[in-house]
Amino acid sequence: MSEEFREPKPDSPVQPVSLTLDDRFRFRCHKGIACFNKCCENTDILLTPYDLLRLKNRLDVSSREFIDRYTRDCELDSHGMPGLKLGHREGSTACVFLTPEGCGVYADRPAACRYYALGHMALRKKDSPTDEEAYFVVKEAHCLGHHEPQEQTIREYLAEQGVDRYDTANREWRRVVLKKRSAGPAIGRPTQRSFELFFLASYDLDGFRAFVASEGFRKAFDLPQAEYVRLLTDEEALLQFAFRYLKQALYGEQSIPVHPQVAAARAERQREQMASRAAMSAEERARLQDELYASLLDDDKPAGDKS
Ligand code: SF4
Ligand code: SF4
Repeated sequence: MSEEFREPKPDSPVQPVSLTLDDRFRFRCHKGIACFNKCCENTDILLTPYDLLRLKNRLDVSSREFIDRYTRDCELDSHGMPGLKLGHREGSTACVFLTPEGCGVYADRPAACRYYALGHMALRKKDSPTDEEAYFVVKEAHCLGHHEPQEQTIREYLAEQGVDRYDTANREWRRVVLKKRSAGPAIGRPTQRSFELFFLASYDLDGFRAFVASEGFRKAFDLPQAEYVRLLTDEEALLQFAFRYLKQALYGEQSIPVHPQVAAARAERQREQMASRAAMSAEERARLQDELYASLLDDDKPAGDKS
């Protein structure tokens, strides 16, 4: 169902016409339609961090519990960057939240469900600093909504589906993913540690909160007390902070102040590493990067959580 992060394929239901927000398309989905629920009986829904936040709160479970009970693992790229998909009902391909009356989590359904029957792609051209949004109509044979007479612009449809809040909340995360995907082999093999960090900050918000609350994190990062309080009490602020943290840890985009003594120690460590880097093999470079991420996590993780 979700077409996010994928290119349209020749045999795909994704119509090969790229649309903008002001283009019109014909579609209407409603409870009385003969195909009601069909689209939720065979799903492949990629979850975003904000999807998880909304769903775990709706179900009143921790992020870890939500991941364990309602999701499936997937990979976001050919390097194995970890992602999550919505789970299936046992023994079927139906969404785990499908009920005979329709979606069991409708007010908090994921962004991909809100987009349907549209596909969305954020593309960044080489050397361009900004993302380009492209929309595609997804016409699956079972979906009769395309035969309904209603027509609307993409903008109107997305507003009606409440997509905006999800897009805003996930925007920086998408940038992290795009950057990681588009970096290609030039940046080297992504390390296991970078994947762990990505997973923690993207999906396990309760685990990330514990990380931010840890003594090690406070020793490493120089945030005002009021900011700590905000991060520990406002989940949406914490999620945005998680994306900042990812950009800093994975790409060196410094936006979170580091305590001067920690910064000096890290700079010294990096200088030593850089000095011997030129002579290293690709495996040695990957091991070094592992150690760098390990030091970030081990410095900052709460005691007793050094997995
Ligand atoms: S979350 Fe709801 S709308 Fe989305 S696939 Fe599941 S049942 Fe359907
Ligand atoms: S019209 Fe399409 S989106 Fe709506 S219930 Fe039917 S199959 Fe699902």
